[in-house]
Amino acid sequence: MQVLSSDAGGKIIKFRKRKSMNGHGHPRIGPLMRLVIPHIAKRYAVCVAMPNPKDFLITSYDRMMQYHTMLNEQSEGHPIRWMMKLYMTGDLDPRDVERACLHPDFGGLKFYPAGLTTNSEEGIADPSLLWTRGSKPYECLRIVAQAKKPVSWHGADGFARADIRIENRSYRAGDELDTWDQECHFVDYSFPRVIDAHPDGIQVFEHLSTIRGIEFARKNPNPNVFYTVTAHHPMLDRRDMTRGGLRPMYWCQPVLQTFEHTQELRRFATEGRDDVGAGDDGASHPKGAKESGCCASGVNTTECSEELYAELFAEMGQLPHFEKFSALVMPGCYGIEPSGDYVVLERGETHPKSIFTCDDGTDVTGYAQPDRFAAEGVRGLNWRFAD
Ligand SMILES: [Zn+2]
Repeated sequence: MQVLSSDAGGKIIKFRKRKSMNGHGHPRIGPLMRLVIPHIAKRYAVCVAMPNPKDFLITSYDRMMQYHTMLNEQSEGHPIRWMMKLYMTGDLDPRDVERACLHPDFGGLKFYPAGLTTNSEEGIADPSLLWTRGSKPYECLRIVAQAKKPVSWHGADGFARADIRIENRSYRAGDELDTWDQECHFVDYSFPRVIDAHPDGIQVFEHLSTIRGIEFARKNPNPNVFYTVTAHHPMLDRRDMTRGGLRPMYWCQPVLQTFEHTQELRRFATEGRDDVGAGDDGASHPKGAKESGCCASGVNTTECSEELYAELFAEMGQLPHFEKFSALVMPGCYGIEPSGDYVVLERGETHPKSIFTCDDGTDVTGYAQPDRFAAEGVRGLNWRFAD
């Protein structure tokens, strides 16, 4: 990173850095894809495309190649490299995984716990398949481990697998977990078993959001295990989602935790670790899906994630670590070169849109700063691209 200017007090107000890599993006499909690709490509040189577009799950090699073509066609004029994932169902064919491993833009597998987030119904309902020799998921994990292709983990369990205590709650084996405990259970129970069963595999624990997860990362340094932090988890806590009523704009899985978790996440993300990188999880949804009888999960930071990350690092006094987090760690994890393109960011108020309209007329929920910022007279973000 090159500092271009500082204020009288020595605070950085303008800098140049390598263009980022998004370790967890949602370029969607159809009108939503056309809406979000320019936003993503402006901010990221490379984006790992999550394999759960609506009605087009990437559950085979052929699907993956079709989606890759769609993304590349739609990105014309917006240069970006898409890294592709295969969606791990209980039935994903290991031969498709073997074939995919030969493709330079194949970025490995994605694990969804069945039913716990958007379009995850086809995911894995029984996590023990992941460490049980002979199961299809085990075989798929073995193949990508050999090929050094990462597995992205939506680290959550829906049900207690053993008698377990999380914070002040006790569960018996088989009990449904509280939404706020799903990540903690995965950290305690499932993730260590995955790592033990596939020690050579590269694992990316995505959108880490709990103190328990952070403690795990700190106590178990492992060159094969990485973590991503979303753009919104370090900036919000659950008060923002529930103040005065439920605010669907901030409803996401993993759910916003209490402020103690957010504070610890802010430190963890910004301290310059070798294993923590950007994965914004910018998740666009039609307004009608967010404001509905069952609110779709996802916070749409697609148009402002780099700016939110810059704000986080600036607030923590850690801007010198921002380039590593955003542009170096994920390329290292995926075995690709960091981008040779550079961007300039500067201090200056900017206002993300809270509503977008797709080319077919669909309204899409965006992102806005929580109301508490209004008290400080600030409604927007404090960082922007200098262009
Ligand atoms: Zn996601």
